[in-house]
Amino acid sequence: MLFTYDRQPEMAKSHGNKLKGTNAGIRIGNRIYLGNNEMGEIQNNNKIPTSAYGAILTINLDAIVENYNTIKKMVAPAQSAAVVKADAYGLGAQKVAPLLYEAGCRFFFVAELVEAFRLKDELPTDASIAVLNGILPGTEKITAEAEIIPVLNSWEAILDWQKLCASEAKRLPAIIQIDTGMCRLGLDNSELYRLVADPSIFNDADIKLVISHLAKSDEENSPANPAQLEAMKKALAKLPTSKVALAASGGIFLNTGYHFNMVRPGIALYGVDPLGKSPTVIKPVVSLDAHVIQTRHVPAGSAIGYGGTFITERPSTITTISVGYADGWLRALGNKGSVYFKGVRVPIVGRVSMDSITLDTTHLGENAPKAGDLVELIGKHQSLDDVARDAGTIPYEILTSLGHRYERIYVKNREGNKK
Ligand SMILES: *Cc1c(COP(=O)(O)O)cnc(C)c1O
Repeated sequence: MLFTYDRQPEMAKSHGNKLKGTNAGIRIGNRIYLGNNEMGEIQNNNKIPTSAYGAILTINLDAIVENYNTIKKMVAPAQSAAVVKADAYGLGAQKVAPLLYEAGCRFFFVAELVEAFRLKDELPTDASIAVLNGILPGTEKITAEAEIIPVLNSWEAILDWQKLCASEAKRLPAIIQIDTGMCRLGLDNSELYRLVADPSIFNDADIKLVISHLAKSDEENSPANPAQLEAMKKALAKLPTSKVALAASGGIFLNTGYHFNMVRPGIALYGVDPLGKSPTVIKPVVSLDAHVIQTRHVPAGSAIGYGGTFITERPSTITTISVGYADGWLRALGNKGSVYFKGVRVPIVGRVSMDSITLDTTHLGENAPKAGDLVELIGKHQSLDDVARDAGTIPYEILTSLGHRYERIYVKNREGNKK
């Protein structure tokens, strides 16, 4: 059992009903009822009651494992790595990575070296950790000492790594990235020719993988995908044999031709269908519920919030909730986004403040939410995709923006999973 229930029993009891009837679920002792017959253990590392938090972020770890297993089956015999950069897309790499290790994952990608160092402490030594952004000059040695695998993104990086292998008299592990059409990271054409002319790095170092990255894998029918696939195959044909990884979440769902030896899913693990499809085999992972702070009645012609950007056209009920842009609820959602109360859509009116948001609940009449009630921001009625669309962005940005002021509830070992 990796995670324990740390909340003191008295606290759990006295605040046990606070989540009643919300998307976050109903807490019974150290179990949480999520609806749909889902039952799981909850874990919360502090002793502050739920009612002290503005909002509650529930992260379903079981769903992450389920998504990993779904992908594993889809791509077999190719291996599935896990991308846990940016703190596992904001969901907590410390919790997510060990769980995926338990599920059989042995290859983890982060973006920065510092993330690799942090992750190293969380994983057994047979887990490989690779750094997508590669090595900055001067970090080669500490990368090698920690047995962290850099992605070599340029000819210069290859030469530096080769030099280090020579001076350490070791075939140090590394990954080579080729740019097949994204112009972001990896060897460009002229560098690729140099590598073809002098492939000695494949002998001098332990080249675990040759990788590339697709620019438009979220666009199922984009001709850019087969074009990058062809460019990758052409490059590989000129290089010594090695294992290959091309697909992130999007590429996994294109077709098996993109799978090669390993895939690198990120967003799909965290509950978002990379092609934006619904229904999808990917299980949602996060839900977010915010407390109502107050509900007030205002006359027609009232200007709501900073800048008075919304003016009521009728006598209105305005409900203020305890979440704002400091929590990652983007300011772009002002006068655009919505939340749900008991399954009914409630529009955001006025600007999003740092710590609060105003809602027009007039249509709910007597049933408008009151202080202490919870409203759904992400959950059964509103997906991450919906929120991203309203905010004019992508689910990745919503996820990685979710703040650190929430009560974070990690759900694990749902009843249905027990054998
Ligand atoms: C972020 C990233 C991934 C994961 O992408 P998703 O779309 O989240 O699956 C994979 N490979 C590279 C190179 C990345 O930068």
